Amino acid sequence: MNPLSDRINNLSTSQTLAMAALARELKAQGRDIISLSLGEPDFNTPDFVKEAAKKAIDENYSTYTPVEGYLELKEAVCRKFKRDNNLEYKPSQIVVSTGAKQSLYNIAQVMLNEGDEVILPAPYWVSYFEIIKLSGGTPIEVPTTIESDFKITPEQLEAAITSKTKMMWFSSPCNPSGSVYNREELTALAKVLEKYPNIYVVSDEIYEHINFSGTFCSIASVPGMLEKTITVNGVAKAFAMTGWRIGYIGAPEFIAKACTKIQGQVTSGANSIAQRATIAAVDADPSVLKYMVDAFHSRRDLVVGLIKEIPGMKINVPEGAFYVFPDVSSFFGKTLRGTKINNAGDFSMYLLAEANVATVTGEAFGNPNCIRFSYATSEDLLKEAMRRIKEAVTTTEVPA
Ligand code: PMP
Ligand code: GLU
Repeated sequence: MNPLSDRINNLSTSQTLAMAALARELKAQGRDIISLSLGEPDFNTPDFVKEAAKKAIDENYSTYTPVEGYLELKEAVCRKFKRDNNLEYKPSQIVVSTGAKQSLYNIAQVMLNEGDEVILPAPYWVSYFEIIKLSGGTPIEVPTTIESDFKITPEQLEAAITSKTKMMWFSSPCNPSGSVYNREELTALAKVLEKYPNIYVVSDEIYEHINFSGTFCSIASVPGMLEKTITVNGVAKAFAMTGWRIGYIGAPEFIAKACTKIQGQVTSGANSIAQRATIAAVDADPSVLKYMVDAFHSRRDLVVGLIKEIPGMKINVPEGAFYVFPDVSSFFGKTLRGTKINNAGDFSMYLLAEANVATVTGEAFGNPNCIRFSYATSEDLLKEAMRRIKEAVTTTEVPA
């Protein structure tokens, strides 16, 4: 008998992390793998952030932290929300957590009862689905298409709402599609939600600064939405701090209090040194990130251009984050080098086997026609990866 709980038996492994682990393992075995699987900047954490952390160690920030985060950090986060998003939050509305992933988990745990429905415009970030399920919620996927730039329309949102709908979760810029919702589009969604005052929105803005569209809008800044939105953000992506594990939310106070309550029983306050470093990060003017954003922008142009040259792949032009999400369904049903490709998972494994390039299947993101590449790596590696992929899908006979 399997002694594990139903809860864990019903949980899927994170496909992003699983593919990254597989790529690492194959590399260790000596295979020349280019890993485009994990969404993680290839830059170092900026020096001014590292200095703040070193100072915190020397100043003995070594004890337990307040469960909801240091007051100084919550105040800095409030300044950031005002400066970048025109959002007025008080420190009592901010909760700092061990990564935005924990912020999302807290939200699901405090908001969802068994059977509550959560609308997920698909594609969505892998972990939303499982975190919602783990908390008893029912994810309701709303498929979007490349033609609508993978964005949910107000009509689709309205059609997905039932008497059980409790929330909608989305990210903008979106992981995995890179789509960025503008103010007009968010206002149109808010207009639908106006009729349903009991539906809350999770707006995951962790890629806010990795945005080439020239504009960014937080849905909480649309009139009527502040009281119904939980804004999630963090320093992992923009500040190249994935391993530091700091995320945060701005939310109605009763939700912030509830998140603090659960965190107090599960993890306590987030890491002291990382929190002090995050004060320096969120207080900095976002222009300090320009060198990274510019690099992601030119890699985006490079990768989109190269993918367009690969026969059989269809792609939108992502405006943010560092992913491309091409539709590869034209390969389904074909046999490449003796391997039958039935779905995106098969195609992703084919690229790993034949091109030594690790990607993540779109199935994990709620879109079975696509695969995801992370382009957070050097231009040379990206060019080589795309060359290998092109060869693997055009030279389809088993090489002699
Ligand atoms: N949201 C999205 C959309 C992400 O891509 C990630 C990736 N890690 C997270 C949340 C989690 O961020 P963190 O590393 O801060 O937990
Ligand atoms: N968010 C990144 C990704 O989508 C990191 C991995 C993870 O936390 O899932 O690849």
